[in-house]
Amino acid sequence: MQVIDAIKTITAGLVFSAGAIAATEHFHPKGNLPSKYTIALQKEQRAKLPFADKKDFEEQERGFIAAPDYREIMADSGHVAWSMGKYDFLLNGEDFDSIHPSLQRQAILNMNYGLYEVTPGIYQIRGYGLANSTFIEGDTGWIVFDVLENKENARAALKFINETLGERPVKAIVYSHSHADHFGGVRGMVDEAEVKSGKVQIIAPKGFMENAVAENIHAGNAMSRRLFYQYGVLLPASPYGHVDQSIGKNVGSGSLGLIPPNRVIEADYEEITIDGITMVFQNTPGTEAPAEMNTWFPDKKAFWAAENITGTIHNIYTLRGAKVRDTLAWSKQINAALYQFGQDAEVMFASHNWPRWGNERIQEVMRGQRDMYAHMNNQVLNLANQGVTINEIHNLYDMPKSLQQQWYARSYHGSLQHNSRAVINRYLGYWDANPTTLTPLSPSDSAPLYVEMMGGSKKILKKSRKLYQRGEYRLAQEILNKLVYAEPSNQEAKDLLADCFEQLGYQYESPSLRNSFLAAALELRDGIKGGNVAHTGGPDLARAMSTELFLEFLGIQMDGRKAEGMAFKVNLLTPDNSETYLIELNNETLTSIKGYQSPDADLSITINRSDLEDLMMRKMTLKQKTAQGLAKLEGDTGVLKQFASTLVEFDTLFEMMPGTK
Ligand SMILES: [Zn+2]
Repeated sequence: MQVIDAIKTITAGLVFSAGAIAATEHFHPKGNLPSKYTIALQKEQRAKLPFADKKDFEEQERGFIAAPDYREIMADSGHVAWSMGKYDFLLNGEDFDSIHPSLQRQAILNMNYGLYEVTPGIYQIRGYGLANSTFIEGDTGWIVFDVLENKENARAALKFINETLGERPVKAIVYSHSHADHFGGVRGMVDEAEVKSGKVQIIAPKGFMENAVAENIHAGNAMSRRLFYQYGVLLPASPYGHVDQSIGKNVGSGSLGLIPPNRVIEADYEEITIDGITMVFQNTPGTEAPAEMNTWFPDKKAFWAAENITGTIHNIYTLRGAKVRDTLAWSKQINAALYQFGQDAEVMFASHNWPRWGNERIQEVMRGQRDMYAHMNNQVLNLANQGVTINEIHNLYDMPKSLQQQWYARSYHGSLQHNSRAVINRYLGYWDANPTTLTPLSPSDSAPLYVEMMGGSKKILKKSRKLYQRGEYRLAQEILNKLVYAEPSNQEAKDLLADCFEQLGYQYESPSLRNSFLAAALELRDGIKGGNVAHTGGPDLARAMSTELFLEFLGIQMDGRKAEGMAFKVNLLTPDNSETYLIELNNETLTSIKGYQSPDADLSITINRSDLEDLMMRKMTLKQKTAQGLAKLEGDTGVLKQFASTLVEFDTLFEMMPGTK
């Protein structure tokens, strides 16, 4: 399931069941309560931040129609696909010192759950997964903007709106962008046959299909592993664990699908009327996703901001791993929307968080978000042009004071710490221009020298404990980290490092940071525990992956060292889509080129693309396909055996912190 393992990283796709935990109890026997330093910091934040500004709460509850009588959704395979109920501890009115007060506020806002009216004829289902699903009432049916991350949640959402507002057929679906929390639930809302027949239109921005899969394949296994940190996949919902995911509560774990769009928006702006609803689409490539689009509803003076404008600073760099995004392009697209649509808009709604009403408020938020991305771009580069490096920028860069007081410009999904480093990385790369860091020793090779020079583990532990007791967690982690690398089996060191991570996790405003620290603490204490990994990547995603991309992934899956001395050429022909590829193994490297065949190939493989998909998903082998007459091999089949011997099974739970495997 290697390819599918890579694909499944598109969604969390992980099932874990944390029992009900009393809010006052730490879920882990080694867990600590917030220290007096952490408590003091949280108090300071409560005094400093504009908690008197309740606009978000008014906007978050405005238009509420009804909530369902359930707080859990079951997956078809029997586990809990989605639970809102496990976060109910956030609603008991308590201030938790183990949660940054600003994050707790966002976590409470993201408890919105059920059906809401945005404006007459536009409704949202919120709290059924990470994203919202938006329903536009056409003359005869629904136009659905974004269909949640899995089939089960999407089906429940459609059922609930139909039960509450009256049954209407789905006439069209719009995928706002190429991330799975916006398309993965499509099979819960529509039948593929209706899309194929043209009865239901699925509309997507240009580049949607390529990017829906491609962003997650090449480094897929590493992304999937890192997701455990960014999303705190194994952290229980608890004031000491997972509390929120900034743009929504969390990711569900039902079955993920993808039906290709039958209408793609190619132009920068394009107007379409469907079922009596006029929509102007604005392609915004290179923003939050490589393929994304906003939508303007001129008759309703309503602006759909996709995921370009949400209730947080978004990720320029997403910690699970992805190519760094473009702050300047993002800001410019928001500016374009502000002048194209924002002057007239009376309501702005998005695929996450909650809407904004009134033109003044809309322009305030659009300008604020435009400026925060541009500020990040400009001021980080201003500092970089004065010699500040990627290793310093996060300690220097801050938002302007005027934006620090705006809740929509706070560091939830994207923290200033990790985003500012990303801006430098985008323009200058990872090197700080100090030759010492150009070819550094690996951490495990340099650590023993540090430990020796610091006088050994006892001395380090003593000093670290002192630093910990003084609340100097970042200093303590600096030396403990060296000790843990030098002595990966030193549990005392790992536990103390975990204690530092835990307090830092409690102190960070951004769930991306909080979860990373708390998840690493959990692994340092317990070692890596797998949890129950549900393989949710389905045949839809294998189908969506081009043969070219599949061959690229095989090249990555191949351990070059095992291919020493091997050399072959293979012609691949997939008759049902008339594609040809020439695949070469040379210099321990697999390459392929589309549209070519070699007359002196060692082997020619003829197999329909639809049968190749079974191989991609490892449902069948090439041998079985050949035996069934569904594949034809001509030439030296020995090269396949050779090649198979080079392939690596990636460990989906590889070690990230030393001594945790
Ligand atoms: Zn999203």
